[in-house]
Parts: sequence; structure tokens; C-alpha cells
Amino acid sequence: MKIAVTGGKGGTGKSTIATALAYYLSQNNKVTLIDADVECPNDSIIMGAEEIDHKQVHQFIPKFDMKKCNHCGQCSKNCKEHAIIVTKEKLIFFPEQCTGCQVCMYVCPEKAISKDEKIIGEIKTYKANTNLTIKAGILKPGIEESANIVKELVKETDNNDKFTIIDTAAGTHCDVIKSLIPSDEVLAVTEPTPLGLNDLKLIIKVVKELKKTVGVVINKYGLSEEYQNKIRDFCNKEEIEIIGRVYYDEEIIKQYISGKPIIREEIKEIGEHYEGKSC
Ligand code: SF4
Ligand code: SF4
Repeated sequence: MKIAVTGGKGGTGKSTIATALAYYLSQNNKVTLIDADVECPNDSIIMGAEEIDHKQVHQFIPKFDMKKCNHCGQCSKNCKEHAIIVTKEKLIFFPEQCTGCQVCMYVCPEKAISKDEKIIGEIKTYKANTNLTIKAGILKPGIEESANIVKELVKETDNNDKFTIIDTAAGTHCDVIKSLIPSDEVLAVTEPTPLGLNDLKLIIKVVKELKKTVGVVINKYGLSEEYQNKIRDFCNKEEIEIIGRVYYDEEIIKQYISGKPIIREEIKEIGEHYEGKSC
């Protein structure tokens, strides 16, 4: 079963819940935790896990044969990223702007463009315990386009483990959507604040567009009764189950800082919900 843990805004405790859920489930099941927040992966740190492997992730970039090039400018005209400038005398390529779409190669009438590669980041594998593997995508500094690394990382969800937990990036952008697509179910983590409610509404809209089953966890429960009620009313209206409530507790922050998995009754209940469904 693949569960994507997402949360709209940053700071709701999405990674805290994702790591705690993965840890709970790994007590009786094989689990892979995918850290898809490639610009700021931190699940391995939260879990105090040990790195056991890594591999580079490559992306297509064009290689120009200037003996064949007639400076027609087709590649430049069709490059949406403005990564190529062609003049009568020169062709200038900006590899850092290239997102690897390959359009330039296909439109070149002189077949002057072939395949080359650049390194855009890596996928690291960690072991948190015998049953729990963590895979994290790490974007190379200076690379802006993260979609290709998320695409590679999402392939790691094809494993034989009983549970795959996908910890998405914050927000509702393209990388988040790519991380939600392979999931069987989505767990939206929110907090009882105006921003928490607002971002929950945004992420639920995306999840419903993708036609995914979704449940909600209210993290930092107890912060605001008013917003707890508003979240409950919203979930009732949208017919979304509130799977769990995790109480605001400074002990969670202390455990988070010390790199220890969070073990709590509220997480056990969320885990049992999914264990019951996967039987
Ligand atoms: S691969 Fe795509 S983004 Fe890169 S230079 Fe060619 S057209 Fe531009
Ligand atoms: S499309 Fe091909 S031939 Fe035309 S400028 Fe680009 S590389 Fe040269």
C-alpha cells in the first residue's frame, strides 16, 4: 500500500507524521519511506538513519555538432527554457537552464544535436531499522529544475514492501503532484490555524482532481478550538475522514530535535487504520 503524506504549507508537521507513521508500521511490516522533498530532504535526519547506498541521477542535455549546424535557429526558437542562443556566428548553450525536454534534438533539421548528460542530483538509501528503508532525492546545488529527480525517485515506490510512505514537498506545485500520483491513498496533515485550514483546502482540491482517497490528520491539536471546529466542518462538508489528531506537545519537538522516532498512541491509531485497510 502506498500512502502519500502531504500538507499544503510547510511547518504543519508533515515530515514528523510521515516518519512517525513509517516507524510505527515498520514494527510489523517492511516499509520504504520516500523523502520527496528534494530541495530539503530531512527524513533520514529525523530518524537518525544510516546511509547505506547512493546513486547519481542524470538528465539529458544536448550535444551540438558545430560541423553540421547551419545556424538556422530552430533549436533556440523551440526551447521554452531559453537555454540556447543562436546567431549567424555562434551558438551559445546554457546547461543550467536546460530541463532535458529533448525538443531541440527533434527539431534540428541538420541532425546536429545528439544526447549528452548532466548530473542533477542523487538518490540516497538509508536504513533506519531492519524493516525500514529510506530513499531520499537530493537536488544538486545550483540546479533549479527538481521535477526530473522527483520522477526518478517516484520509480523507487515500485517495491515489494507492505507499505511505501511518500513524504511529499510542501505546497501544491508540480513536484507534489508527481509524488501524489503513484499513491493509493493520501494523508493530508494540517494544523488548527488559519493558514493550516487554507492550505488544507488547496491540497484537498488537488487530491480530488487526482481522484485519490484522502484522510486528514490534525497535528498540533489543542492550539485552537475555533480552527479545529472549522477543519472538522470542512472535512464533514467534503466527506473526508479525520483519521487522527496529534496533540500539541513539546515532547514531540524534543524528540524531533534529538533525531529519535516519535512513538505515541495517536500515531499507533493512524498506523492501525492503514494496517486494517491493507489486510
Ligand atoms: S533539451 Fe529542452 S530545455 Fe534543454 S536545451 Fe533542448 S529544448 Fe531547451
Ligand atoms: S537547430 Fe540544429 S542546425 Fe539549427 S541552429 Fe540549432 S543545432 Fe544548428
